[in-house]
Amino acid sequence: MKQSVLFTRAFKSFPSDEEARGIRFLVRAGFVNKEAAGVYSFLPLGLRVLRNIESIIREEMDRVGGQEILMPILHPRENWEITGRWTSFDALYKVKNREGKEAALGPTHEEIIFPVIKKMVSSYRDLPVYVYQIQDKVRDEARAKSGLLRGREFWMKDFYSFHRDETDLDGFYEKMKKVYLGVFKRLGLKVLVVKASGGTFSKYSHEFQVLSPVGEDLVLYCGKCGFAENKEIAQVKDGEVCLECGGMIKAGSSIEVGNIFKLNTRFSEPFSVAYKDEEGNQRLVYAGCYGIGVSRLMGTIAEVLSDERGLIWPELEAPFLVHLLELDGGRGDVIYRDLQRSGIRVLYDDRKISAGEKFAEADLIGIPWRVVTSKKTGTKLEVKARSSAETRLVTLLNFKRLLKTKR
Ligand code: ATP
Ligand code: MG
Repeated sequence: MKQSVLFTRAFKSFPSDEEARGIRFLVRAGFVNKEAAGVYSFLPLGLRVLRNIESIIREEMDRVGGQEILMPILHPRENWEITGRWTSFDALYKVKNREGKEAALGPTHEEIIFPVIKKMVSSYRDLPVYVYQIQDKVRDEARAKSGLLRGREFWMKDFYSFHRDETDLDGFYEKMKKVYLGVFKRLGLKVLVVKASGGTFSKYSHEFQVLSPVGEDLVLYCGKCGFAENKEIAQVKDGEVCLECGGMIKAGSSIEVGNIFKLNTRFSEPFSVAYKDEEGNQRLVYAGCYGIGVSRLMGTIAEVLSDERGLIWPELEAPFLVHLLELDGGRGDVIYRDLQRSGIRVLYDDRKISAGEKFAEADLIGIPWRVVTSKKTGTKLEVKARSSAETRLVTLLNFKRLLKTKR
């Protein structure tokens, strides 16, 4: 992609209405545009990042046997009445149609998926079922001032599993815990697996938390063995000795990027989702749900992987892998075509602006590899990783080799 035609704009100054560093960079670098508090448009750079995060999650969900579906945003009021959440879910957006009929805008999809399962599952032979979607969610959040971290409209991956009994659910729940760790590792994030309250329908749940000063959660964790609990339920205190390993418990703000939950029969009961077992008895289906905040992840990465000059994307999430900068006397066109032919995602800064501006913008956008061609570099390229200060002069061939060995 040539930067001269890329639909974006890097602003000289930070937006005045954003507080957290990550979202300030995302807006300033033209990844997203704010429409209202907690509501954003994803522009080409931002959408590429969002899609890359989705792809990683999708691969891991498919690998564990998940089948992708897509449920509606518009939910009939009746479904929410059946579970009692029409009144108890405080962030529920309610809308009316021209006849005065009410509907909810989906903040989560138990009220849709359970009736679907009821139709599709009748025998023990039909279980287990693993389905998920990656979709736009809507919530009337009380406070939406942390950019993509707390949207009123945001992207979530929600996975639902359905089982014959508690044992089968427990086994899958443990498996998903590992799958989640794999997802966040691939994304380049350090997460704490945090034990949290399970609400009214289960003893406990697990949250996946990334330590960050802008996080809205507070966790107590052991820096040595990784044991962690959410402050809301914690039995340990800041400064205490870790009961698991003897290390020290610390308190820290954190961002919840995902959570897993055993629903047990909380929703099968009101929707009467049952199956016939081997003996012909009707039994309620056991279920689990597993969420990941896709757009929140984008905000989190922007937040924790950035420096004073701008964003620093890991290779997999980055909108482009290489940012090619042509300065006076460089061979930009030739190198751009060559990199493209090699299947490398490259953004080519072909604009007639100063070298200083190009460098500053490259740092702001945060593409992993900055490559400069100029009169000075001659037939070689000056290569620099966004995450490092070191530059080196290499041939195009060696640069491509370097990219290959990195993956
Ligand atoms: P939180 O405790 O942050 O309000 P939650 O526990 O209500 O989140 P879930 O309903 O389980 O979250 O949603 C699954 C995931 O979706 C969360 O772990 C989080 O990463 C993400 N998420 C939830 N609410 C939002 C939001 N308003 N904006 C962006 N992402 C969100
Ligand atoms: Mg939560």
